Amino acid sequence: MTAIETVEEFRTRARTWLKEHMPPAPSPLPASDEEFAWDRARELQRLLHDGGFAGICFPTEYGGLGLTADHQRAFTEESLPYEMPLLLNVPTLSICAASLLDLGSEEQKRAHLPAVLRGEEIMVQFLSEPRGGSDLAGLTSRADRDGDQWILNGSKIWSSGAYAADYGLCLARTDWSVPKHQGLTLFLVPVHAEGVTVQRIKQVTGSTEFCQEFFDDVVLPADAVVGQVDGGWEAASRLLFHERAALGGASPYSSGARPYLGGEADRLFDMAKAMGRLSNSGVREDIGEARAMNVVRDQLIAHVTQAITTGALPPAAGAIPRLFSAENGWLQTDTALRIAGADGATYTPGAAADTETVGLDYLFRAAWSLAGGSTEIARNVISERVLGMPREATGDRDVPFDQVPHGR
Ligand SMILES: Cc1cc2nc3c(=O)[nH]c(=O)nc-3n(C[C@H](O)[C@H](O)[C@H](O)COP(=O)(O)OP(=O)(O)OC[C@H]3O[C@@H](n4cnc5c(N)ncnc54)[C@H](O)[C@@H]3O)c2cc1C
Repeated sequence: MTAIETVEEFRTRARTWLKEHMPPAPSPLPASDEEFAWDRARELQRLLHDGGFAGICFPTEYGGLGLTADHQRAFTEESLPYEMPLLLNVPTLSICAASLLDLGSEEQKRAHLPAVLRGEEIMVQFLSEPRGGSDLAGLTSRADRDGDQWILNGSKIWSSGAYAADYGLCLARTDWSVPKHQGLTLFLVPVHAEGVTVQRIKQVTGSTEFCQEFFDDVVLPADAVVGQVDGGWEAASRLLFHERAALGGASPYSSGARPYLGGEADRLFDMAKAMGRLSNSGVREDIGEARAMNVVRDQLIAHVTQAITTGALPPAAGAIPRLFSAENGWLQTDTALRIAGADGATYTPGAAADTETVGLDYLFRAAWSLAGGSTEIARNVISERVLGMPREATGDRDVPFDQVPHGR
């Protein structure tokens, strides 16, 4: 048996390789609504793969390195000064590929995971629907059996990056005669299949990264099912576990910097310094609080991840760092705007202080308490499934779905 490379050996090897092969991190990062940004991410992922640094925590039989979360953390720390395919972290690697690893058939894993790790397949999530995303089990997109195949109809929305994707993990209703959680199935849907229409949505920030999809009689083969037919809720629960870990910054399948949450303490410090505001005690306190929150975030992620791994906390505890990350995202974004003041809205290129994205981050900040399930739902998960408090009352949990009024 070959001895596993220690974390420090791996770190040293990664440091040398990164320095030789990866370009310096661009500033600002390219926007995720630009097609070239996705092409660039595919190229960078291929570079990591060919250099032997892709999929650090994915098993070797599916193209990964089969190493530990500590190896991944060391690589991430070393990678921070370099350009990395961060767009592929969420949802492709840390949510979709991670879910496929847990739930997919051997054929699905062998067909897709190596391709994802080579940067050849981008995967997104088709979960939320126009009628609402929090009540995921109440969705109304449908897949009907037709011999060995399935026919998919309906619509999904808020799908991040779907316009640049190859596959979407899509939850659809396959049995209407049973209560809502029991009649769902997860499918791997080719985004370019006949009958799939992807429309981009323009946000208040101007970004067009979000998409809405329409499925019109999309034919899916039997092997598009991920997990069990009508076992979609169990599959979705696993997917949501990975989503909370990814959004909370705790996923071992993300490589490189965490999702950017609107401001980091060093950036706040640099901005205040460039604007001559460091002598203001209120500004110094704000920066201190932002820095302390980031330290707490990192500790919380480490603590909860460890507790889930050892079984001291249930997987649903992933909602704790996910909730904290959202609250912290708001705090960092608001702090940045307080420091930047009017410059946050009127940035001029070449200005001494980097306030370019402060105003847009502020407009986007509500997204951090919705993406990956809202903070209210995260609080429900924590109270019901971590603390064991009584479940929220619902009228439709045990009623066959075709008897539930849902505005079809
Ligand atoms: C940045 C971003 C990226 C996203 N990416 C994707 C993606 O890739 N794929 C995808 O499928 N979806 C995606 N989403 C959608 C996201 O999952 C939904 O926004 C989220 O689940 C909430 O659903 P909703 O927006 O329909 O709000 P609703 O479900 O309509 O809820 C509206 C409000 O009511 C509150 N609420 C609802 N039910 C309860 C309850 N039982 N108790 C207390 N409060 C409640 C919610 O917290 C929320 O504040 C993304 C969203 C964002 C912001």
